Amino acid sequence: MNPPEAQKEALAVLNGVLESNYSNFYRKKYKHCTKFDDWVSIPFLTRSEMQRTSFFDRLFIPLGDMDMVRPTSGTSGRGILLMPKWGKKPQSYKPPLHVKYIKQKSLNRAVTFSGAHSYYANDVRNRLGIDYLYLDPGDMQTSARLFNLYKPEIIYGFPYAIASLVSSLSEKSLAQKVQAIIFFGERCSDTQWRFIQKYFANAVIFSEYASIETQATIAGPCTEIVRKKEKYVHPLPDYVFFEIIDSSGETLTKEGASGELVITTISPVVFPLIRYRTGDSATIIYSSCPCSIKTPVISIDGRIEIDRLRIPGGELNLAEIERVVSQCQEYVTGGDFLVQYIEIKDRYGVLKPKVTIELSWNKKKKADSTVLAKIFAQTLRVAPQYTYADGVREGKYEPLTIQFLPQDTNMGKRRIIRN
Ligand SMILES: [Zn+2]
Repeated sequence: MNPPEAQKEALAVLNGVLESNYSNFYRKKYKHCTKFDDWVSIPFLTRSEMQRTSFFDRLFIPLGDMDMVRPTSGTSGRGILLMPKWGKKPQSYKPPLHVKYIKQKSLNRAVTFSGAHSYYANDVRNRLGIDYLYLDPGDMQTSARLFNLYKPEIIYGFPYAIASLVSSLSEKSLAQKVQAIIFFGERCSDTQWRFIQKYFANAVIFSEYASIETQATIAGPCTEIVRKKEKYVHPLPDYVFFEIIDSSGETLTKEGASGELVITTISPVVFPLIRYRTGDSATIIYSSCPCSIKTPVISIDGRIEIDRLRIPGGELNLAEIERVVSQCQEYVTGGDFLVQYIEIKDRYGVLKPKVTIELSWNKKKKADSTVLAKIFAQTLRVAPQYTYADGVREGKYEPLTIQFLPQDTNMGKRRIIRN
Protein backbone atom coordinates (compact mmCIF):
# COMPACT_ATOMS: atom_id res chain seq x y z
CA MET A 1 0.00 0.00 0.00
CA ASN A 2 2.96 2.29 0.55
CA PRO A 3 5.32 3.13 -2.29
CA PRO A 4 8.74 1.41 -1.99
CA GLU A 5 10.46 4.73 -1.20
CA ALA A 6 8.19 5.13 1.84
CA GLN A 7 9.12 1.63 3.04
CA LYS A 8 12.79 2.52 2.77
CA GLU A 9 12.26 5.81 4.58
CA ALA A 10 10.33 4.12 7.40
CA LEU A 11 13.23 1.73 7.97
CA ALA A 12 15.64 4.66 7.89
CA VAL A 13 13.64 6.50 10.56
CA LEU A 14 13.62 3.46 12.81
CA ASN A 15 17.33 2.89 12.48
CA GLY A 16 18.00 6.62 12.73
CA VAL A 17 16.26 7.16 16.06
CA LEU A 18 18.22 4.27 17.56
CA GLU A 19 21.38 6.29 16.91
CA SER A 20 20.16 9.21 18.99
CA ASN A 21 22.14 9.61 22.17
CA TYR A 22 19.30 11.44 23.80
CA SER A 23 16.30 9.19 23.88
CA ASN A 24 16.40 6.14 26.11
CA PHE A 25 12.80 5.52 25.21
CA TYR A 26 13.59 4.57 21.60
CA ARG A 27 16.67 2.55 22.42
CA LYS A 28 14.80 0.49 24.98
CA LYS A 29 11.79 -0.12 22.80
CA TYR A 30 13.16 -0.88 19.35
CA LYS A 31 15.83 -2.96 17.66
CA HIS A 32 17.52 -2.31 14.34
CA CYS A 33 15.64 -3.68 11.35
CA THR A 34 17.15 -3.80 7.88
CA LYS A 35 14.67 -5.84 5.84
CA PHE A 36 11.20 -4.57 5.16
CA ASP A 37 9.89 -8.15 5.49
CA ASP A 38 10.55 -7.86 9.23
CA TRP A 39 8.61 -4.62 9.57
CA VAL A 40 5.51 -6.25 11.11
CA SER A 41 7.65 -7.57 13.99
CA ILE A 42 8.36 -4.00 15.15
CA PRO A 43 6.24 -3.25 18.24
CA PHE A 44 3.40 -0.74 18.10
CA LEU A 45 3.65 2.52 20.00
CA THR A 46 0.66 3.82 21.93
CA ARG A 47 -0.19 7.20 23.29
CA SER A 48 -0.57 5.93 26.85
CA GLU A 49 2.92 4.50 26.58
CA MET A 50 4.23 7.95 25.70
CA GLN A 51 2.23 9.53 28.51
CA ARG A 52 3.79 7.16 31.00
CA THR A 53 7.30 8.09 29.89
CA SER A 54 8.90 11.36 30.94
CA PHE A 55 9.28 13.97 28.23
CA PHE A 56 13.06 14.09 28.71
CA ASP A 57 13.32 10.37 28.29
CA ARG A 58 11.44 10.61 24.98
CA LEU A 59 13.36 13.61 23.71
CA PHE A 60 15.66 12.54 20.90
CA ILE A 61 17.27 15.84 20.01
CA PRO A 62 19.30 18.27 22.14
CA LEU A 63 17.05 20.51 24.17
CA GLY A 64 18.54 23.60 22.49
CA ASP A 65 17.55 22.41 19.01
CA MET A 66 13.87 22.75 19.53
CA ASP A 67 12.10 26.05 19.40
CA MET A 68 9.27 25.23 21.73
CA VAL A 69 7.37 22.55 23.56
CA ARG A 70 3.72 22.29 22.85
CA PRO A 71 1.34 20.70 25.32
CA THR A 72 -1.13 18.82 23.16
CA SER A 73 -4.40 17.30 24.10
CA GLY A 74 -6.01 16.59 20.77
CA THR A 75 -9.51 17.54 19.82
CA SER A 76 -11.08 14.54 21.48
CA GLY A 77 -8.93 15.04 24.51
CA ARG A 78 -6.81 12.16 25.59
CA GLY A 79 -4.70 13.78 28.23
CA ILE A 80 -1.89 16.28 27.85
CA LEU A 81 1.27 15.18 26.13
CA LEU A 82 4.33 17.38 25.75
CA MET A 83 5.76 17.41 22.25
CA PRO A 84 8.81 19.28 20.98
CA LYS A 85 8.77 21.35 17.83
CA TRP A 86 11.74 21.90 15.58
CA GLY A 87 12.46 25.32 14.24
CA LYS A 88 13.28 24.52 10.64
CA LYS A 89 11.25 22.69 8.04
CA PRO A 90 13.18 20.06 6.09
CA GLN A 91 14.29 20.83 2.52
CA SER A 92 11.91 18.25 1.13
CA TYR A 93 8.89 19.86 2.76
CA LYS A 94 5.89 19.81 0.43
CA PRO A 95 2.97 21.88 1.62
CA PRO A 96 -0.52 20.37 1.57
CA LEU A 97 -2.79 20.96 -1.42
CA HIS A 98 -4.80 23.83 0.06
CA VAL A 99 -1.63 25.95 0.21
CA LYS A 100 -1.33 25.80 -3.57
CA TYR A 101 -4.97 26.77 -3.99
CA ILE A 102 -4.69 29.72 -1.58
CA LYS A 103 -1.65 31.01 -3.45
CA GLN A 104 -3.22 30.51 -6.85
CA LYS A 105 -6.30 32.45 -5.86
CA SER A 106 -4.28 35.06 -3.92
CA LEU A 107 -6.47 34.65 -0.88
CA ASN A 108 -5.22 36.41 2.21
CA ARG A 109 -7.86 36.75 4.90
CA ALA A 110 -8.52 33.75 7.08
CA VAL A 111 -10.26 32.94 10.30
CA THR A 112 -9.27 29.98 12.41
CA PHE A 113 -11.00 28.12 15.18
CA SER A 114 -7.85 26.35 16.14
CA GLY A 115 -5.90 27.51 19.18
CA ALA A 116 -3.06 25.42 17.78
CA HIS A 117 -2.68 27.94 14.99
CA SER A 118 -1.36 30.56 17.35
CA TYR A 119 1.68 28.31 17.74
CA TYR A 120 2.29 28.47 14.03
CA ALA A 121 1.31 32.09 13.47
CA ASN A 122 4.65 33.30 12.07
CA ASP A 123 5.09 30.16 10.07
CA VAL A 124 1.70 30.52 8.40
CA ARG A 125 2.15 34.25 7.78
CA ASN A 126 5.56 33.80 6.20
CA ARG A 127 4.77 30.72 4.21
CA LEU A 128 1.30 31.62 2.98
CA GLY A 129 1.34 35.38 3.22
CA ILE A 130 -2.07 35.37 4.86
CA ASP A 131 -3.35 36.94 8.01
CA TYR A 132 -5.90 35.42 10.22
CA LEU A 133 -8.14 36.11 13.10
CA TYR A 134 -8.71 33.62 15.87
CA LEU A 135 -12.35 32.82 16.58
CA ASP A 136 -13.38 31.27 19.87
CA PRO A 137 -15.43 28.13 19.24
CA GLY A 138 -16.87 28.50 22.75
CA ASP A 139 -18.37 31.91 21.94
CA MET A 140 -20.17 31.61 18.63
CA GLN A 141 -22.08 34.91 18.97
CA THR A 142 -18.85 36.91 19.11
CA SER A 143 -17.29 34.69 16.46
CA ALA A 144 -20.19 35.40 14.11
CA ARG A 145 -19.89 39.17 14.73
CA LEU A 146 -16.16 39.10 14.01
CA PHE A 147 -16.83 37.02 10.92
CA ASN A 148 -19.27 39.67 9.67
CA LEU A 149 -16.73 42.45 10.19
CA TYR A 150 -13.72 40.64 8.81
CA LYS A 151 -15.35 38.96 5.82
CA PRO A 152 -12.82 36.14 5.54
CA GLU A 153 -11.98 34.20 2.40
CA ILE A 154 -10.58 31.19 4.21
CA ILE A 155 -11.79 29.23 7.25
CA TYR A 156 -9.64 26.81 9.19
CA GLY A 157 -11.44 24.75 11.76
CA PHE A 158 -13.19 21.74 13.15
CA PRO A 159 -16.33 20.64 11.35
CA TYR A 160 -18.59 21.25 14.34
CA ALA A 161 -17.30 24.82 14.80
CA ILE A 162 -17.86 25.71 11.14
CA ALA A 163 -21.33 24.15 11.15
CA SER A 164 -22.33 26.03 14.27
CA LEU A 165 -20.87 29.28 12.94
CA VAL A 166 -23.37 29.10 10.07
CA SER A 167 -26.20 28.83 12.56
CA SER A 168 -25.04 32.03 14.27
CA LEU A 169 -24.50 34.13 11.14
CA SER A 170 -27.08 36.86 10.83
CA GLU A 171 -26.16 37.45 7.20
CA LYS A 172 -25.91 34.04 5.58
CA SER A 173 -24.81 35.57 2.26
CA LEU A 174 -21.37 36.29 3.76
CA ALA A 175 -20.75 32.56 3.77
CA GLN A 176 -20.82 32.75 -0.03
CA LYS A 177 -17.67 34.88 0.01
CA VAL A 178 -15.61 32.11 1.57
CA GLN A 179 -13.44 30.39 -1.04
CA ALA A 180 -11.54 27.80 0.92
CA ILE A 181 -12.39 25.73 3.98
CA ILE A 182 -9.76 23.59 5.60
CA PHE A 183 -10.99 20.97 7.99
CA PHE A 184 -8.85 19.15 10.43
CA GLY A 185 -8.87 17.88 13.92
CA GLU A 186 -11.81 15.58 13.87
CA ARG A 187 -14.07 13.54 11.72
CA CYS A 188 -16.70 15.34 9.69
CA SER A 189 -20.01 13.51 9.56
CA ASP A 190 -21.91 13.20 6.26
CA THR A 191 -24.60 15.54 7.59
CA GLN A 192 -22.05 18.19 8.55
CA TRP A 193 -20.30 17.81 5.21
CA ARG A 194 -23.51 18.38 3.22
CA PHE A 195 -24.57 21.22 5.52
CA ILE A 196 -21.28 23.08 5.12
CA GLN A 197 -21.23 22.49 1.35
CA LYS A 198 -24.69 23.97 1.09
CA TYR A 199 -23.95 27.20 2.97
CA PHE A 200 -20.41 27.75 1.72
CA ALA A 201 -21.43 27.08 -1.86
CA ASN A 202 -18.40 28.84 -3.39
CA ALA A 203 -15.78 27.29 -1.16
CA VAL A 204 -13.48 24.46 -2.08
CA ILE A 205 -13.34 22.17 0.94
CA PHE A 206 -10.10 20.49 1.91
CA SER A 207 -10.49 17.78 4.47
CA GLU A 208 -7.13 17.23 6.10
CA TYR A 209 -5.96 14.82 8.71
CA ALA A 210 -3.35 16.11 11.08
CA SER A 211 -2.02 14.10 13.93
CA ILE A 212 -1.61 16.14 17.05
CA GLU A 213 1.37 13.99 17.97
CA THR A 214 3.23 14.83 14.76
CA GLN A 215 1.83 18.37 14.63
CA ALA A 216 1.67 18.12 10.87
CA THR A 217 -0.81 17.26 8.16
CA ILE A 218 -0.17 13.64 7.35
CA ALA A 219 -3.11 12.90 5.08
CA GLY A 220 -4.90 15.19 2.69
CA PRO A 221 -6.97 15.28 -0.46
CA CYS A 222 -5.60 15.30 -4.02
CA THR A 223 -7.02 17.39 -6.86
CA GLU A 224 -9.13 14.40 -7.90
CA ILE A 225 -10.78 14.09 -4.47
CA VAL A 226 -11.39 17.84 -4.28
CA ARG A 227 -12.87 17.84 -7.78
CA LYS A 228 -15.27 15.05 -6.79
CA LYS A 229 -16.14 16.99 -3.60
CA GLU A 230 -15.33 14.03 -1.41
CA LYS A 231 -14.06 14.15 2.15
CA TYR A 232 -11.51 11.40 1.67
CA VAL A 233 -7.75 11.68 1.99
CA HIS A 234 -4.52 10.10 0.82
CA PRO A 235 -1.92 9.32 3.47
CA LEU A 236 0.90 11.55 2.21
CA PRO A 237 3.91 9.34 1.49
CA ASP A 238 6.32 12.25 1.98
CA TYR A 239 5.24 12.39 5.59
CA VAL A 240 4.04 9.01 6.71
CA PHE A 241 4.34 5.36 6.19
CA PHE A 242 0.88 4.15 7.08
CA GLU A 243 -0.82 0.89 8.01
CA ILE A 244 -4.39 -0.03 8.80
CA ILE A 245 -4.67 -2.87 11.28
CA ASP A 246 -7.46 -5.01 12.65
CA SER A 247 -7.98 -5.64 16.37
CA SER A 248 -5.42 -8.43 16.38
CA GLY A 249 -2.77 -6.21 14.79
CA GLU A 250 -2.93 -7.77 11.31
CA THR A 251 -2.44 -5.41 8.38
CA LEU A 252 -5.49 -4.76 6.19
CA THR A 253 -5.12 -3.93 2.50
CA LYS A 254 -8.42 -4.66 0.74
CA GLU A 255 -10.83 -2.02 -0.46
CA GLY A 256 -13.64 -1.59 2.05
CA ALA A 257 -11.57 -2.80 5.00
CA SER A 258 -11.78 -0.73 8.21
CA GLY A 259 -9.35 -0.70 11.06
CA GLU A 260 -7.08 1.43 13.19
CA LEU A 261 -4.74 3.83 11.46
CA VAL A 262 -1.09 3.25 12.35
CA ILE A 263 1.56 5.73 11.27
CA THR A 264 5.31 5.99 11.07
CA THR A 265 6.46 9.53 10.47
CA ILE A 266 8.98 9.54 7.67
CA SER A 267 9.42 13.25 7.54
CA PRO A 268 9.83 13.82 11.25
CA VAL A 269 9.38 17.54 11.20
CA VAL A 270 8.60 17.38 14.88
CA PHE A 271 8.88 14.07 16.59
CA PRO A 272 9.40 10.61 15.10
CA LEU A 273 6.67 8.11 15.74
CA ILE A 274 7.19 4.48 14.80
CA ARG A 275 4.19 2.23 14.24
CA TYR A 276 2.14 4.63 16.29
CA ARG A 277 -1.45 3.56 16.92
CA THR A 278 -3.40 6.74 16.33
CA GLY A 279 -6.61 5.52 17.95
CA ASP A 280 -8.43 6.65 14.82
CA SER A 281 -10.44 4.34 12.65
CA ALA A 282 -10.00 4.46 8.86
CA THR A 283 -11.52 2.71 5.85
CA ILE A 284 -9.81 1.96 2.54
CA ILE A 285 -12.11 3.52 -0.07
CA TYR A 286 -10.11 3.12 -3.30
CA SER A 287 -6.91 1.12 -3.46
CA SER A 288 -5.59 3.47 -6.14
CA CYS A 289 -6.37 6.89 -7.56
CA PRO A 290 -5.81 8.45 -11.01
CA CYS A 291 -3.67 11.16 -9.38
CA SER A 292 0.07 10.89 -8.80
CA ILE A 293 -0.07 9.98 -5.09
CA LYS A 294 0.76 6.31 -4.71
CA THR A 295 -1.25 5.54 -1.58
CA PRO A 296 -4.88 4.43 -1.36
CA VAL A 297 -7.75 6.82 -0.82
CA ILE A 298 -9.04 6.38 2.71
CA SER A 299 -11.73 7.87 4.89
CA ILE A 300 -11.04 8.85 8.47
CA ASP A 301 -13.96 7.56 10.51
CA GLY A 302 -13.05 9.10 13.83
CA ARG A 303 -11.81 8.04 17.19
CA ILE A 304 -12.35 4.44 18.11
CA GLU A 305 -12.98 5.34 21.72
CA ILE A 306 -13.81 8.87 22.66
CA ASP A 307 -13.61 10.15 26.19
CA ARG A 308 -14.23 13.76 25.40
CA LEU A 309 -16.15 15.36 22.58
CA ARG A 310 -16.40 19.03 21.81
CA ILE A 311 -19.88 20.34 21.24
CA PRO A 312 -21.07 23.92 20.78
CA GLY A 313 -20.69 25.71 24.10
CA GLY A 314 -18.69 22.99 25.81
CA GLU A 315 -17.87 19.34 25.72
CA LEU A 316 -19.25 15.93 26.55
CA ASN A 317 -16.90 14.32 28.97
CA LEU A 318 -16.89 10.65 29.89
CA ALA A 319 -15.85 11.31 33.49
CA GLU A 320 -18.68 13.81 33.89
CA ILE A 321 -21.21 11.32 32.50
CA GLU A 322 -19.89 8.73 34.94
CA ARG A 323 -20.47 11.22 37.75
CA VAL A 324 -24.07 11.77 36.63
CA VAL A 325 -24.73 8.05 36.34
CA SER A 326 -23.37 7.45 39.83
CA GLN A 327 -25.58 10.25 41.20
CA CYS A 328 -28.62 8.57 39.69
CA GLN A 329 -27.80 5.19 41.12
CA GLU A 330 -31.22 4.68 42.62
CA TYR A 331 -32.64 4.57 39.11
CA VAL A 332 -30.00 2.78 37.14
CA THR A 333 -28.31 -0.54 37.66
CA GLY A 334 -25.00 -1.76 36.48
CA GLY A 335 -22.21 0.60 35.61
CA ASP A 336 -22.46 0.23 31.86
CA PHE A 337 -23.66 2.95 29.60
CA LEU A 338 -23.33 4.00 26.03
CA VAL A 339 -23.60 7.59 24.91
CA GLN A 340 -24.76 8.15 21.34
CA TYR A 341 -23.99 11.53 19.88
CA ILE A 342 -25.53 12.74 16.64
CA GLU A 343 -26.33 16.06 15.06
CA ILE A 344 -29.74 16.62 13.60
CA LYS A 345 -31.25 19.45 11.61
CA ASP A 346 -33.97 21.38 13.37
CA ARG A 347 -36.89 22.91 11.46
CA TYR A 348 -34.80 25.98 10.56
CA GLY A 349 -32.14 23.78 9.03
CA VAL A 350 -29.70 24.35 11.90
CA LEU A 351 -27.57 21.43 13.10
CA LYS A 352 -28.01 20.62 16.76
CA PRO A 353 -26.36 18.09 19.06
CA LYS A 354 -28.55 15.26 20.25
CA VAL A 355 -27.43 13.00 23.05
CA THR A 356 -28.93 9.62 23.84
CA ILE A 357 -27.72 7.67 26.84
CA GLU A 358 -28.35 3.95 26.93
CA LEU A 359 -28.21 2.30 30.30
CA SER A 360 -29.80 -0.41 32.35
CA TRP A 361 -32.65 0.45 34.62
CA ASN A 362 -33.82 -0.37 38.09
CA LYS A 363 -37.26 -1.89 37.43
CA LYS A 364 -38.39 -1.55 41.04
CA LYS A 365 -38.15 2.23 40.79
CA LYS A 366 -40.25 2.30 37.61
CA ALA A 367 -38.69 5.61 36.70
CA ASP A 368 -40.04 7.05 33.55
CA SER A 369 -37.40 7.56 30.87
CA THR A 370 -38.50 11.15 30.23
CA VAL A 371 -38.20 11.98 33.95
CA LEU A 372 -34.79 10.41 34.13
CA ALA A 373 -33.72 12.21 30.95
CA LYS A 374 -34.64 15.54 32.58
CA ILE A 375 -32.66 14.71 35.71
CA PHE A 376 -29.68 13.72 33.58
CA ALA A 377 -29.81 16.87 31.48
CA GLN A 378 -29.99 19.09 34.57
CA THR A 379 -27.05 17.32 36.22
CA LEU A 380 -24.81 16.88 33.18
CA ARG A 381 -22.36 19.75 32.90
CA VAL A 382 -20.96 20.56 29.48
CA ALA A 383 -19.02 23.55 30.82
CA PRO A 384 -18.27 24.56 34.45
CA GLN A 385 -21.40 26.72 34.78
CA TYR A 386 -23.47 25.24 32.01
CA THR A 387 -25.57 22.10 31.91
CA TYR A 388 -26.99 20.21 28.98
CA ALA A 389 -30.44 21.40 30.14
CA ASP A 390 -29.23 25.03 29.83
CA GLY A 391 -28.29 24.30 26.23
CA VAL A 392 -31.70 22.79 25.52
CA ARG A 393 -33.43 25.80 27.07
CA GLU A 394 -31.40 28.17 24.89
CA GLY A 395 -32.22 26.16 21.81
CA LYS A 396 -28.64 24.96 21.28
CA TYR A 397 -29.24 21.26 21.85
CA GLU A 398 -31.99 18.79 21.18
CA PRO A 399 -33.45 17.31 24.38
CA LEU A 400 -31.47 14.47 25.90
CA THR A 401 -33.08 11.05 25.73
CA ILE A 402 -32.60 7.92 27.77
CA GLN A 403 -32.97 4.48 26.36
CA PHE A 404 -33.09 1.61 28.74
CA LEU A 405 -31.11 -1.44 27.89
CA PRO A 406 -33.45 -4.45 28.18
CA GLN A 407 -31.51 -5.96 31.07
CA ASP A 408 -28.28 -5.66 32.95
CA THR A 409 -25.49 -6.15 30.50
CA ASN A 410 -21.99 -7.15 31.09
CA MET A 411 -20.71 -5.36 28.06
CA GLY A 412 -18.19 -3.65 30.30
CA LYS A 413 -18.52 -0.48 28.34
CA ARG A 414 -18.64 3.13 29.22
CA ARG A 415 -18.32 4.85 25.95
CA ILE A 416 -19.20 7.80 23.81
CA ILE A 417 -20.00 6.97 20.21
CA ARG A 418 -20.42 9.54 17.50
CA ASN A 419 -22.55 8.66 14.52
ZN1 LIG B 1 -5.66 11.01 -5.62
